Amino acid sequence: MHVLILGGTTEARLVAGALHAAGTRVTTSLAGRVAAPRLPPGEVRVGGFGGAEGLARWLREHQVDAVIDATHPFAGTISFNAARAAAGTHVPLLALRRPGWAPVDGDDWHPVDSLDAAARALPALGHRVFLTTGRMGLAAFAHLSDTWFLMRSVDAPEPPFPPAMDVLLDRGPFTLDGERELLRRHRVDVLVTKDSGGAATAPKLTAAREARLPVVVVRRPPAPDGIEVARAPEEAVAWVLKRAQ
Ligand code: NAP
Repeated sequence: MHVLILGGTTEARLVAGALHAAGTRVTTSLAGRVAAPRLPPGEVRVGGFGGAEGLARWLREHQVDAVIDATHPFAGTISFNAARAAAGTHVPLLALRRPGWAPVDGDDWHPVDSLDAAARALPALGHRVFLTTGRMGLAAFAHLSDTWFLMRSVDAPEPPFPPAMDVLLDRGPFTLDGERELLRRHRVDVLVTKDSGGAATAPKLTAAREARLPVVVVRRPPAPDGIEVARAPEEAVAWVLKRAQ
């Protein structure tokens, strides 16, 4: 059995590791956005497929028996491409979608639908921003010249970005102590995040709650309907192994 995992997430690496250990042939596909990605066990390919048609061709040429879309919840395009390619080739598709975050008592969340909307919300909320939405899409904040940003990402951003911005190159998982210290040291007064979900980057939310900071939360983009969904890596592994019997 040959399984293609559309990856770029911790969960994708976990699934690849478990399937590889179980003796399943697994290829993980990465978009190629990160210069030195953490590589999963098994085979790895890097770069776009050329839309849904290109992905469908790849599935046929490489005799793929099942696809797991384990991409990040904000990677909207590839998930729709996977749905179309799987439907066109009749290859079973499972979407591994980690649950989103939910506010708890003490949170001061400001949900928005886009990075542009996050930028519009910011001036009323604070002027020292911890921006954790990644290095893509910084153009949305580039006009905010009266706001200071601490931007954390894996690789360095490219312009356009805000004029007053410090860059922190780092990748999760992050600790609660580390996030507390970061908010304190930089005198952050507002946090901006995507609703990525998962544990690796959640401690910033706790740290913001403790410090009574407002949090601008960008809601997830739409995902394709009518697809079988797993919520955790173990479910995705079980889905494949059941098919392999
Ligand atoms: P996207 O907007 O959904 O995808 C844009 C294009 O990139 C796709 O049409 C596809 O090109 C290519 N692509 C995306 N994921 C791919 C993959 N796993 N393998 C091969 N090609 C892929 O995705 P994105 O938001 O740019 O994210 C790119 C990757 O980074 C994803 O794999 C995702 O898991 C990871 N990631 C994204 C975020 C985020 O916030 N967006 C955060 C963490 C990790 P073709 O049409 O040419 O096939």
